[in-house]
Amino acid sequence: MARETDAEIAEITIQLKEHLRFYREIGVTDIGGGAAKATGEPHEEAATPAIEVDYSAPDSIHPQRKATMPDESSRGLEFNLFGEPITPAPGPKSGRHVAATQTPCDLSLEVIREDIGDCTRCKLSEHRTNIVFGEGNPHARLVFVGEAPGADEDATGRPFVGRAGQLLDKIIASIGLRREDVYIANVVKCRPPQNRTPEKDETSTCEPFLFRQLRFINPSVIVTLGLPAFQTLCRTRESMSRARGQWRDWNGVKVMPTFHPAYLLRDPTKKREVWEDIRKVRDYLAKEKLL
Ligand code: SF4
Repeated sequence: MARETDAEIAEITIQLKEHLRFYREIGVTDIGGGAAKATGEPHEEAATPAIEVDYSAPDSIHPQRKATMPDESSRGLEFNLFGEPITPAPGPKSGRHVAATQTPCDLSLEVIREDIGDCTRCKLSEHRTNIVFGEGNPHARLVFVGEAPGADEDATGRPFVGRAGQLLDKIIASIGLRREDVYIANVVKCRPPQNRTPEKDETSTCEPFLFRQLRFINPSVIVTLGLPAFQTLCRTRESMSRARGQWRDWNGVKVMPTFHPAYLLRDPTKKREVWEDIRKVRDYLAKEKLL
C-alpha cells in the first residue's frame, strides 16, 4: 500500500515538473496563488489574472518542441529574411523563396497549433467560426502582429485577408517583400463579437500562444499593428501617438509600433506615417543585411 502511494507521488511529481517546464517555455514564472495542476489542459491556468509574464525568462525548451527542433548540426545557422540559411558557401544566389513547408521548424509551429486544439479556454470560442493561428515563413526575420481576427479572417481561418489584409500586403510589398516572406499573427486567435477590442481575460488567456510562436520564429523585427497589439506585446500603457515610429523592445527583439491597416482604411491620411515607420524597418533590415 505504502509502495503504491510512493509510486503515485513519484508520478505526480514528474507531471508537476513537466507542467512547470511548460510554463517556463512560454515565459510564465509566477502562477500566483494556485499551484499548477498535475493534469488537465496545459493552458487553462493562463486564464487566471494572477499570472505574470516574465519576458526576461530564459528560453527553456519544452520536450515536445525539442523533439522537433533542428539537430545540433543545424544549430547556429542564421536565416535571412526569406528563410534561406545564411552560409559562407559561395555560389550564385538562388533568389527569394519561402522555406520548405515541412521543415522541423514548421513542425514546431504545428505543435503549438496542436496545443491550441479546438480551444475553448476563453469566451471568444463561443462565436468564432475558425481559429486564426497565423501564417507565413517560420524563419521570417520580420513578423507582423495584429490585435484579433475580423470577419474575413474568421470565415477563412487566415490572418489579414480582408481589405485591411490587402493593404497590409501592399505595405509589405513597399519594402520589396512578399506576404510569404514574413509571418503574420494576432494577439488573440478568435474573432471578438462585432470586432470589439479583446478583453483583458481573453488577451491574457490567448497571448501565451503568440509568445510561443514569436519565441520559436525568433524574428529580428516585430511590427505591431494598432494600439492593443503594441500595448500587449510591450506591456505598456503608452499611447500610439507617442510610440508610433519609435523602436521598442520585446524580449530583446526590436518592435516597431505603427497603425493598424484597418485604421488607414478609415483615415488614409495616416498612410504617410505608416510608410515612414515601415521605411525605418526596411532601413534596419538592410543595415543588418537581412534584406
Ligand atoms: S481566443 Fe485564444 S484562448 Fe480564446 S478560445 Fe480562441 S484560441 Fe482559445
